[in-house]
Amino acid sequence: MSNSKVRRSGRRKPYTEVGVRRKSCSRCGKPASTQWQCCANESRWSPLCAQCDVRLNEIAVRFMRLLGAETLLRRYSTKLLSKEVVTNANNE
Ligand SMILES: [Zn+2]
Repeated sequence: MSNSKVRRSGRRKPYTEVGVRRKSCSRCGKPASTQWQCCANESRWSPLCAQCDVRLNEIAVRFMRLLGAETLLRRYSTKLLSKEVVTNANNE
């Protein structure tokens, strides 16, 4: 694959906390709540929604075979997704 054919996503500078919330998740298009820096993507920053952030962390934690992976993932998922419910409730 030629480098000129690679579609770039993300940006080189991280988003501000306010700025990233104005963006859509680079994976699914839902409102973003955080960002991810990917080394293989030229260390670019990409906006992520809470659900995609949890899924990305699941992949990384399992791949790295971290001790207590299931507990870590349960805690992280509960923290992020319950925060999102509170945020959504405040917007209604
Ligand atoms: Zn997403």
